[in-house]
Amino acid sequence: MTHIVTDNCRLCRFTDCVTVCPVECFHADEERSYIDPEVCIDCGACVPVCPVKAIYDAADMPEDLDRWVAVNAERSAILPRVTAKQPELPTAAARRAELGY
Ligand code: SF4
Ligand code: SF4
Repeated sequence: MTHIVTDNCRLCRFTDCVTVCPVECFHADEERSYIDPEVCIDCGACVPVCPVKAIYDAADMPEDLDRWVAVNAERSAILPRVTAKQPELPTAAARRAELGY
């Protein structure tokens, strides 16, 4: 199994998750991050540090988020790896407030 990033990451991309991942399995585009399921070791370290609760264990997540398993696999395969914390997106504070965190 793997962990996955879901829609809450969109327009946030705080990348706190990247700083705790022991195997550098995060990839990103202009809007959000994705986890490479081939590299994730399911340690769970990224889940509590995400300020908008975007990350789930794929084996234990709400059914309506199922599609994110494929999205993470497809996008991480073609996007550059992110190995250090990046500045959050300019939209991050508003998005976080919108999500209620
Ligand atoms: S910490 Fe959460 S919001 Fe930030 S990049 Fe990681 S998954 Fe996205
Ligand atoms: S569960 Fe662990 S290995 Fe997988 S993405 Fe999160 S921090 Fe990285």
